[in-house]
Parts: sequence; C-alpha cells; structure tokens
Amino acid sequence: MNVALKNKHKVLVINAGSSSIKYSLIEITQQDAITSGSIENIGETENSSTNFANHEQALQYIFSELKKSALINNENELLCIGHRVVHGGEYFQQPAIINAEVIKNIRETIMLAPLHNPANLLGIELAMKQFNTVVQVAVFDTAFHQTLPAHAYHYAVPKAWYEQHGVRRYGFHGTSHFYVAKKAAKYLRKPLKNLNIISLHLGNGASITAIEKGKSVDTSMGMTPLEGLMMGSRCGDIDPALHFYLTKTQKLSLFEIETALNKHSGLKGICGENDMRAVRKLAESGDKNAQLALDMYIYRIKKYLGAYFATLGHVDAIVFTGGIGENDTKLREQCCCNLGALGITVNDSKNNSGELNYSNSDCLEISDKNKAVAVLVIKTNEELEIALQSAACLDHEN
Ligand code: ADP
Repeated sequence: MNVALKNKHKVLVINAGSSSIKYSLIEITQQDAITSGSIENIGETENSSTNFANHEQALQYIFSELKKSALINNENELLCIGHRVVHGGEYFQQPAIINAEVIKNIRETIMLAPLHNPANLLGIELAMKQFNTVVQVAVFDTAFHQTLPAHAYHYAVPKAWYEQHGVRRYGFHGTSHFYVAKKAAKYLRKPLKNLNIISLHLGNGASITAIEKGKSVDTSMGMTPLEGLMMGSRCGDIDPALHFYLTKTQKLSLFEIETALNKHSGLKGICGENDMRAVRKLAESGDKNAQLALDMYIYRIKKYLGAYFATLGHVDAIVFTGGIGENDTKLREQCCCNLGALGITVNDSKNNSGELNYSNSDCLEISDKNKAVAVLVIKTNEELEIALQSAACLDHEN
C-alpha cells in the first residue's frame, strides 16, 4: 500500500437498497465497526416517521451526521468508500474501483436486477458527489459465484437466451458466503483453498452454496434471488409452467404473478407469517399451516444439502449463517437430522449451549468431535467483508 493510504484506516460502507440505506464506518486495522445505522422507508411520504423523500436527502443526512459526530472530520480520513452492488452480471469477478467504465457496466446490468442496481448506482453517484476525492469501490453479491462451471450456471433453455440476453444462474449473497467460508477455514486452521464447504445463508432471503477448494461451484439462487430455497416471502424453486397455468386459467397478469412469488409466497404464503420466530410460535401453538411451512422449509434445505454433497463428493464443513441460521437452534438440528450416514451430526448440548460460547467467538462448532463434517455456526458480517474487499482492491492497485 502506498504511504499516503497507509495512514487511512476508515472505510465507509454503503448499502443503498430500493427504499433503505444501510451504512457502516469500519476501522480497517481493528476490523471493527465504529458506527453503523440505517434509514428505512425512503420515499414513503405517508409514513410520518420518515422525513426523507429520496435517497439524496437520506445520504446527505447520513454524511452530515457522520461529520457532526466527528467520526469523519474530513474526507482525507477515509481510505475508501465501499458500495454493495447486488448484480455484477458477468462483468465483475472481483470488486472494482469505480470509474466511468464500471458505472457503465453496472448500469448495463440494471435489467437483471431492476429493484436493486438502480438504488446501488444512485448511492455510488451521490457518494461520489459528496466525497469527490475519496476512492469508491463496488463490491458485488454475484462476484463470488463467477467461478461456477458452465454446467452449473446454464439453464436448459435456448442457448441464445444466454448469449443474447444474459439468461443464466448468477447467484447472490456471495459476500456473505465468502466471508463465512474464510472464517470457517480460520477456525479449522486450514487454507480455504484446501476446503470443501456447504454454506447456508438463512435470512429473509436464503441461499445455499457449494464451495470446492474455496471456490463457489454451485449456488441455489439463480438469475434472480427468487430461485432456490424457500424464503420468508419468496417461493424458491417452482415449476415454471405454473405461470402459464395461472395466466390461462385465472387470467393473472405477469405483474400479479411476480408480486405473489416475491412477496406473498415462501413461509408467508403457506402460513401468513414471514418471520421465522413467528412461524415457530404459531407452529408450537398447534397451527397446522405453520407446521407445514416449517416442514417444507427444512425439507428443501435437506434436499439441497444432499445435492451439494453429491456435487462436492467430500465435505469438510457445513456453515449456518444469517438471522435464522445463526439463531434458530432447533432449525439447525432439524436440517441435519438423519444425515449421520453422510458424517453430519449435531450435538444437542453444543447446539443449545450456543448463545453463551457464541458471544465470545466468531464460530460455534455444533457437531460431535472427530466427525467427518464440522457443522459450524458463524455470524456473517457483510459490511466488514465489503470494507475488507474494498481495502484489498486498493492494495492491488497500488
Ligand atoms: P436479512 O436477510 O434481511 O439480512 P436476517 O439475516 O437478519 O435478514 O434474518 C432475518 C430472519 O432471521 C427473520 O426471519 C427472523 O425471524 C430470523 N431470526 C432472527 N432471530 C431469530 C431467532 N432467535 N430464532 C429464529 N429466527 C430468528
């Protein structure tokens, strides 16, 4: 790293979503957040709790608060600003220092992520305006999955759709899958490049990734984050012919189907609740739909676990992360139950004593000792990973 950059230790991470902006100021040498926060419901003017009519106002407020609190006194203190960008298409295998070409390529990817990339881009443009001497870096959710082999990323559809329209599996949550894989390698004291890992990111969105020798070789989300596991309100894998059936018989529009599959499906579609805590509570009270939703959620995870076991041949570790993966002990046990033949076990007392040990460590091992597969719980930290990747990106350049 050049001398001028050496004295800068702060990275501002910005995650601009369609109606929210999350930010985190990271001290890069300590690998710790100095402060973080979020502004939600941007543009929802009827909600009186928000005063932000648009992203520009919200970001300006964040920047002015950071300056006011003296956490950033001037822009010279910032090593860089790292931006989460959801879709990098096939343009980006790595993070990229933002320039006109990078912006052009992110813009060209908008068609693949119409809800996310425009907001990400807006965040970049506003931050560039506000901090015009600071290097800005884009870190892509899709980048980690660019190592998928062709047989895993192609859909069995006319090849021209891929060649002309970019129709393929891209995968998402890459920043999280990579972060927890690195943490698992550290915990197991082995280089990541020698490890095969199955990582499960189970949050509101959910995806599972097969990692071979440190590289993503398959992942459950597809061209969009709708494919794969059952999620809070997204359907995951379904028969594509269902669209035609509903259009023809019920005269549903494409928009209605798209909305239903994204917002009214998954756990919510089956039992009316999308928060796993609420689903569990309902199921415990005897609600049959909530029990069905849980059974489906777990069954689908197990199907993918089996499939990715077959993909990898040998598995060193399974990692649970995301709000559900990190906190729902029962779910972890249920997902791994009856998988002893594959070398997967969950030790009840380790799994349930989790909270205590967990607060002292990044990684909780819940499998029996000396089992073939280490089952780990690792708290994800996408903001930190974006900061680390952004800083590393500058290192490569200098
Ligand atoms: P996002 O994908 O939006 O980042 P999170 O990773 O924070 O979301 O995960 C949110 C999910 O985590 C919610 O479904 C919530 O119910 C679940 N969750 C959080 N804490 C618990 C818990 N103790 N038990 C079960 N589920 C939990």
